[in-house]
Amino acid sequence: MVKKSSQFTIDGVVIKRGERKRINIDMGSIYDFTDVKMPLEVIRGKKEGPTLFICSTIHGDEINGIEIVRRLLADEALKKISGTLIVIPIVNIFGFNDRSRYLPDGRDLNRCFPGLKNGSLTSQLAYKFRKEIVMKSDFGIDLHTGAFHRCNYPQIRADLSNEMNLELGIAFGAPVLIGSNVRDGSLRASVSQMNIPMILFEAGEALRFDEENIKMGVEGILNVMRKIGMIKGEVKKLSKKTFIAYSSSWVRATRSGIHTPHKNLGTHVTKGDILGEISNPFGDHKTLIKAHETGIIIGMSKLPLANKGDALFHIACDKIVKKRKSTNHMREHFSNVDPVNI
Ligand SMILES: [Zn+2]
Repeated sequence: MVKKSSQFTIDGVVIKRGERKRINIDMGSIYDFTDVKMPLEVIRGKKEGPTLFICSTIHGDEINGIEIVRRLLADEALKKISGTLIVIPIVNIFGFNDRSRYLPDGRDLNRCFPGLKNGSLTSQLAYKFRKEIVMKSDFGIDLHTGAFHRCNYPQIRADLSNEMNLELGIAFGAPVLIGSNVRDGSLRASVSQMNIPMILFEAGEALRFDEENIKMGVEGILNVMRKIGMIKGEVKKLSKKTFIAYSSSWVRATRSGIHTPHKNLGTHVTKGDILGEISNPFGDHKTLIKAHETGIIIGMSKLPLANKGDALFHIACDKIVKKRKSTNHMREHFSNVDPVNI
């Protein structure tokens, strides 16, 4: 269902058919009375069509998506779109300026949706974003990276019980598509309650630009736009094969020490394969880290230092693995993903 309206407004600003406009949404002010704005760009095609929002940097230190949207906005294909594209390069402007995942009140924006008009600073941002952007959209794409010191293989995460999400995820074309449950308070949970199809692209690491992932992000978004009829043309193949996963879990350090990985992102592994080793500062007393499931490595720690229990390798499986009780706390299993990794 496409939301039709001849009058399209964001934060009181009217965007007419055929217009391309930058809008600064008012987000209040900081201690010194400086106004804080969330900048976004709206491209409204002359022809009717769906409204798609693309947002990045809900986590202030996950900046790869900013470069994805910068390049997307320069793409010739956007000169002739059907429908409306809303692009928000930086949702968490507070965290971004501080190079932090969080907001100044210490909250994670992706745990505060749908938000409250008069709630905490983070809750107010969530509320306004939902009201001004999400509620006016038919589809959404949310851009993320791994958390600090972690790198993610390019992957789409979505609730695959929604058929449209599955179609959008396949159209995007990333090498891995994960059917993950939504977390309470996440943008995805809020959007899913509103029955708006949304996929999340995860690639790379915090505070870094990664060329390959940026290229895939731009092409993937254009593929989704082709799929939903906003731009013309056939969906382009970006990966040899899409690995569809239904569960994922982290392999954790079985002791503290210096971690040397033996496997890279995107490697298919079999249960029992050696993923890495942990040794002491002299290079001996090695402890091998082994895969606890068969699947593909979709995330890994980039920090060579590990404490016992630290998450080292994130493995996605193409079957539903039953949630285990934590009999072995080193192999703690998440039906979804690590708490800081959405
Ligand atoms: Zn994130």
